[in-house]
Amino acid sequence: MATLLKGLPIAENFKKQIMAAICNEKLHPQLNVILVGDDPASSIYVKRKQEACSSVGIRSEAHFFQIDQEEAVLQKICQLNLDVDCNGILVQIPLPKGWNEYKIFETINPLKDVDVFNPVNVGLLLQNRPRFLPPTPHGVRELIIQNGLTLRGQHVVVINRSNIVGKPLSSMLIQDNGEYANATVTVCHDNTPPEQLQELCLTADIIVVAVGIPNFLTEDMVRPHQVVIDVGINRVENKIVGDCHPAVAEKVAAISPVPGGVGPMTVAMLLYNTLEAARLQCGIKS
Ligand code: NAP
Repeated sequence: MATLLKGLPIAENFKKQIMAAICNEKLHPQLNVILVGDDPASSIYVKRKQEACSSVGIRSEAHFFQIDQEEAVLQKICQLNLDVDCNGILVQIPLPKGWNEYKIFETINPLKDVDVFNPVNVGLLLQNRPRFLPPTPHGVRELIIQNGLTLRGQHVVVINRSNIVGKPLSSMLIQDNGEYANATVTVCHDNTPPEQLQELCLTADIIVVAVGIPNFLTEDMVRPHQVVIDVGINRVENKIVGDCHPAVAEKVAAISPVPGGVGPMTVAMLLYNTLEAARLQCGIKS
């Protein structure tokens, strides 16, 4: 049975450090979350983020909009950009079909862009001089590092190429960044033929799977000594599961559980970015 790479204790430790920094540096960080529509999963995520904020002393405010209020959302972002009390702005995705997502993210002040979707921050990340690290990829990286695992020289197969997971994660892991990266990364997606995907997975040291399909990664795609990071979140009969078939955990060396793996790490990294944004806006170096 694989070692479980639990995110919860690591995330709690991060949160303690964030709370101490807020107190010691006499900061009053504030995160503003914008939620559009009534998607139940998005509402739960926003609620969890707000609870996490309050647990470390970050003030949070949620702003709710209907799916026909794109202009009002842009106006709210402009207002928050100028609000000196607001340090972080997060627009919960997915946005309604037909919305210009890129315009929304471009409008967020890059200094307040704690979810790292503004193209200026995405560009800085790509050039290995990030202002903020995107929460989910940062959470994945910390889960690996804090468990004493190595990235340098490892072959990492990332099954995802989205703007939130695969693109920023692969960019972070290939950087010349000491023990925190220097991996060799292969990115796979829906157009990767299944037999090639299996072949690539079998050559990996670390597999990061974020497809959003339960039981996607099967036993025949993995081998012993590998590490699997399961980013997937799927609801099956009222239970949250990841993307790995249970037999994968019987075969590999280490695997992150779902729930309790990448999820809590993502939230902790969002809190960290909000602290960093407050520091930036007060001219404090971290
Ligand atoms: P997404 O945009 O739908 O991305 C899914 C990715 O999987 C795409 O790159 C897609 O390829 C690829 N894919 C789909 N079918 C495939 C197949 N048969 N073979 C190979 N690749 C395939 O979703 P997302 O927003 O990135 O999220 C992915 C999963 O991670 C979801 O379950 C989501 O809930 C979860 N997630 C978790 C966290 C967390 O904090 N734990 C954060 C973010 C997301 P194409 O690009 O070709 O379509």
